[in-house]
Amino acid sequence: MTEYSCESEEEPSGGRRSESLKAFRSAGRGFWSDVPNSQWDDWRWQMRNRITSREQLEKLMPMLTPEEYAGSVLANTKLALGITPYFFNLIDPTDELCPIRWQVIPRIEETTTAPWEMSDPCGEDSHSPVPGLVHRYPDRVLFLVTDRCASYCRYCTRSRLVSNAAGYDFQPDFDRQIDYIRNTPTVRDVLLSGGDPLLLSDDKLESLLSRLRAIPHVEFLRIGTRIPIFLPQRITPALCDMLRRYHPLFVSIHSNHPRELTTEVREALGRLADAGIPLGNQSVLLNHVNDDPEVMKAHLHKLLLCRVKPYYLYQCDLIAGSAHLRSSVRRGLKIMSQLRGHTTGYAVPQYVIDAPGGGGKIPVNPEYVLSHNNDRVVIRNFEGKVFEYPEAADGTPMVSRPGAVCDSQLF
Ligand SMILES: *Cc1c(COP(=O)(O)O)cnc(C)c1O
Ligand code: SF4
Repeated sequence: MTEYSCESEEEPSGGRRSESLKAFRSAGRGFWSDVPNSQWDDWRWQMRNRITSREQLEKLMPMLTPEEYAGSVLANTKLALGITPYFFNLIDPTDELCPIRWQVIPRIEETTTAPWEMSDPCGEDSHSPVPGLVHRYPDRVLFLVTDRCASYCRYCTRSRLVSNAAGYDFQPDFDRQIDYIRNTPTVRDVLLSGGDPLLLSDDKLESLLSRLRAIPHVEFLRIGTRIPIFLPQRITPALCDMLRRYHPLFVSIHSNHPRELTTEVREALGRLADAGIPLGNQSVLLNHVNDDPEVMKAHLHKLLLCRVKPYYLYQCDLIAGSAHLRSSVRRGLKIMSQLRGHTTGYAVPQYVIDAPGGGGKIPVNPEYVLSHNNDRVVIRNFEGKVFEYPEAADGTPMVSRPGAVCDSQLF
C-alpha cells in the first residue's frame, strides 16, 4: 500500500500543503495528530478508523448538543453513522452551526417524519427492472454497485438502501444488471452509483467498467461519487491510470460547502482531471449548509478552481426525517437569480427538483421570459432590464431532410 502513502511527499505543490489539514493536525489543533502521514494518507486506514458510534463521537466531541447526542444514540437504525477521520477534522467542534457537522452528525430530528416524506422519494424501486438498476429515462440507467459509502450524509436520498442499517438488504447482482443493459439497446449511458462505486477495489471496478465497455451500444460511462470529498486518499495514481482506459468516462462528485474543498481534495480532483476525466459537481441545497448566496457563490468558484463544472443543484428530496435540512424552493430560486449573469456562466449549476414519486429531474429556473407569442418574446436580464426579441418563423425541420443527422461513418 505504499502507493497510497508516498503520494503527498512527491507533490510539487509542497509549499501549499502547509495550509492543509495535515498541518492543522500536526499543529495539534485537530485530532489524530499522532498518526503518521503514511497511515493518514492510506485510504484503508481512514476506512478502518471511521467514527461509527456515539461513544467515539462523544470522545472526540464532548460538546455534542442534546439533539446530536439523542440522534447518535439512535444512529445505525435508519442510516449508519460513519465519518472518515479526514472528513471529521473539517468539523468545527466549537460551532453548533458548523456546515460540515450538519451533513454527517445524526440529530434527533431525523426521527420526525412528515406525511409527505418517503423512504424512496424519487420512486427508484418502482423503476427498477432488475435489483440495483434504475431505468427511468429512455437512454440511460442508474447502476447501483454497492450500499457502502465512506461517510453517510444525513439527507441521503438512498437512506433506505445505503449502509443497510434499516434492513433493506441490498444485494447487487452484477450479472443480471449487465445482462439487462446488454439486452436493452436503447441504453447508451450508464451511471455507476450506490453507495459509492469508488469504494470497490480497483480490480472490481475495472472488471465492471470493462464489461460495460464491451457492450457496443454503451457509449458513455459515468461514476457518481463522494469519495473525492470524504476520502481523497482513495484517488490514487493507480486508480486514475485504470479509469483513463475507459473513456469517455465522466465523474460527478458531490460537494456542498466551500470548506469541503481542501488542498487534499483539490489535488485528488487534479489527478482525476489529469487522467482526462471531465468533472461535474452535484450539490444539495441544505439548510445550515449552503442556502446562502455568498456561501453558494464561494463554493461554485472554488469548484472551478478545482477544475470541476457545477452540474446540478438539487432541491433536497423528501427523504423521511430530513425536514431540518431542507431549504425552500423560494430560497433556491433566489440564489439562482443571484448567480446567472452575476458570475461566470460555467459556475452556474442547473437547479432541479427530482419529482416526488418518480417523475425524474425537473429544472426549476427563475423567470426570464416575461411573455411569448407568435410575434415576440419579452425577456428580462440579470439586472431586471426588459428586452424584446422579435420571434422568427419556423422553417422545415432539419431532421426531416435525409442526411440531416450525422451518420456514424464520420465519427
Ligand atoms: C439523475 C439520474 C440519471 C442521470 O440524469 P442526467 O440528467 O442525465 O444526469 C439517470 N437515471 C436516474 C434514475 C437518475 O436519477
Ligand atoms: S455519499 Fe451519496 S449515497 Fe452516500 S450517503 Fe452521501 S448522498 Fe448518500
